Amino acid sequence: MKTRILTFAAALLISVSAGAAHRAPLSEGKYEQLPLGSIKAEGWLLEQLKRQASGLTGQLDEVYPEVMGPSNAWLGGDGDAWERGPYWIDGLIPLAYILDDEGLKAKAQKWVDAILDSQQADGYLGPAEDHPFIYGLQRGKSHDWWPKMVALKILQQYYSATGDKRVIDCLSNYFRYQLRQLPVTPLGHWSHWGKERGADNLEVVYWLYDLTGEDYLLELGELIHSQTKDWSALFREGRIFYTQGSTHTVNLAQGFKAPVVWWQYSGNEQDRLAPRRAMDFLRLTAGFPTGLWAGDEQLQFGDPQRGTELCAIVEMMFSLEEILRLSGEASWADWLERIAFNALPTQVTDDYCAKQYYQQVNQVSVVHEVRPFSTPHYRTDQLFGTLNGYPCCLSNMHQGWPKLVQNLWYGTTDGGLAALVYGPSTVTATVSGGKTVRIHESTDYPFRESIRFLIEFPGKEKSARFPLEFRIPAWSKGLSVSINGKAQPLSSGAGICRIDRRWSESDVIDIDFSAELEVERWYGGSWTFVRGPLVYALKMDEQWSWKEFEGSDRQYYGPGAWEVRSHTAWNYALVRNEFKKENCSLARTESVAAYPWNLENAPLTLTVPARPLLSWKEPGSVAYWTEDSYEMGEAVDIELIPYGCTTLRITEFPTRIIPWNLKYHQ
Ligand SMILES: [Zn+2]
Repeated sequence: MKTRILTFAAALLISVSAGAAHRAPLSEGKYEQLPLGSIKAEGWLLEQLKRQASGLTGQLDEVYPEVMGPSNAWLGGDGDAWERGPYWIDGLIPLAYILDDEGLKAKAQKWVDAILDSQQADGYLGPAEDHPFIYGLQRGKSHDWWPKMVALKILQQYYSATGDKRVIDCLSNYFRYQLRQLPVTPLGHWSHWGKERGADNLEVVYWLYDLTGEDYLLELGELIHSQTKDWSALFREGRIFYTQGSTHTVNLAQGFKAPVVWWQYSGNEQDRLAPRRAMDFLRLTAGFPTGLWAGDEQLQFGDPQRGTELCAIVEMMFSLEEILRLSGEASWADWLERIAFNALPTQVTDDYCAKQYYQQVNQVSVVHEVRPFSTPHYRTDQLFGTLNGYPCCLSNMHQGWPKLVQNLWYGTTDGGLAALVYGPSTVTATVSGGKTVRIHESTDYPFRESIRFLIEFPGKEKSARFPLEFRIPAWSKGLSVSINGKAQPLSSGAGICRIDRRWSESDVIDIDFSAELEVERWYGGSWTFVRGPLVYALKMDEQWSWKEFEGSDRQYYGPGAWEVRSHTAWNYALVRNEFKKENCSLARTESVAAYPWNLENAPLTLTVPARPLLSWKEPGSVAYWTEDSYEMGEAVDIELIPYGCTTLRITEFPTRIIPWNLKYHQ
């Protein structure tokens, strides 16, 4: 016992960065998470976080008091005992520490302290008493393993920001409890969620193992893995992707990381590669150009009138962030950016006060009417509100942007820094030799493809040798890099570029990628325009109006929600035997607005030749273009803007060929 304590104490003093990101037998890894708070958002990304702070993330306890108020069972009350409270704090913690906002930190601290204080002598954590059903609250299943997994993610992030040692003791006690209890009540005992989402539990177990090196954690890891759905096998086999309704899509988003989290320990290359197989299958069946897939609760084939749930977006982003860091493969960042810079911004209003439960890729009206979703929630899913759809998203949406900021930069295991995902930011970190460096990343990415890194040394010594790595996106057709104005002869292939040299105060690295317009083929032979990290969609004017809910709608879905309508024609087809890329043109605004994600501030406009498809009229049937109609109007130029700036849109355009013997309508 004495030896174990000594080992534990020594382990805390040794940095894991001395050659490996992870402790053996876990795979060594190349990248380490930097302490929460050391990466700050700048530019439009900072504006986005500020809107979260003044919107729902900063105020959810006031907007949704029945669940997030003092009666929540995680705070010691007899109210909601399940996932919703922890969901909110999982996003509030990174927001509070990235913004360095004392008010938000205090709100989060109350929950962290309550979670830590809830621990019982045997290590059990969280609400422990079930209460009878009350509409709108989840008061049962208090022992379910699943919501506790979210609490683990909260404690992990809180420790990263503060180093509060209570977290290590609490997690150690809880994991010893799990090791004793899981053989009796396995992950799937209380609900199926725990079994499907076990990777969220496993990831924190390995994180603690890196810190403490205690062998029981590896034993617990094997146990958790054995009780978790075998996502690796499902991804390699592929049947779930070509069977509609085969899986719950938020579970799929969370399960995406499972094979790679386990690969750290299994070392099995099939596990590391499994998400790649899943991605290939998705591209052929359920996928959308936004990087997500059709999943209105259950997985569907990728008809663009199907929905994507907001929870699936933020959970898939978190999975990709984990896969990127653990595998060190740059291509995962391409996919992460596809979601973050397209699907994420459009599903929440500019003031961050209302959200959609489902978004559509082809969405020509947002109204309180029937949509072809498998779970329609009384026609409220698509509206912009708070309690519309189902309350999971209102609680879980907050992690998306702050965790993206936290994953813009990593430490490398040889004392350097790596920018694998791009966005305006500043990182402050200790590099090899123990020197503190600050790097400002100035960029209007993803609306522009140039990035500038300015290096500063806040300490006395004004230079240090360390490697600086950055990602070359797969879409980049060319690369130019200069240091202090001098061009660098670097290979431009996709992957990770590394410059290892002595850096001095005020060194400037300028990087320019080269993006070209691409036409991707999607559902039913449709075409979608993509350039660099951005997907483009038809620009449509928007009339927003408040829809007051009545009767039972009001009771279940809140006082009302926003509807959005448009006067803009949307029924355009692309004619394949007329289309030439050189007839498309891209216009840029002079500068990128502080908040670029709306119609007024769209920083880019793509003009494309198209023809009205005259038979395609019904707004409620925005994907029914496969009928054999060739009746088209005169050629026109249509305007597209970045998908993330639209609310109403066509993204997947039907295509036609004009046969020699058919005249189009003049
Ligand atoms: Zn949700």
